[in-house]
Amino acid sequence: MRARAEYQTLSEAMQHTRPNCEGWADIFTADGPADIETVTFTAELCCTCPLLTECGEFARAARPGVGIWAGIEYKQSAAGRPRKTQTKETA
Ligand code: SF4
Repeated sequence: MRARAEYQTLSEAMQHTRPNCEGWADIFTADGPADIETVTFTAELCCTCPLLTECGEFARAARPGVGIWAGIEYKQSAAGRPRKTQTKETA
């Protein structure tokens, strides 16, 4: 498994800390491109999330194919490789 250590760290942190995106899975895991309102909304949640560091480290290591992780939108390129788009708010 890619990013096993980062996943373990994030998973352990989530046992005692709730992420700001809890309850918003439909937005954070959408496989289509996010519109500007969604990017702004998710960036605001991520910027103040107590799991921002752990989430970002996992996403950078795992390079998920879809979704918004630590304020960055990940999506597949035309060649099928993961791409990421960093939002202005979390840059
Ligand atoms: S930093 Fe990660 S865990 Fe926190 S709200 Fe953003 S996507 Fe969710």
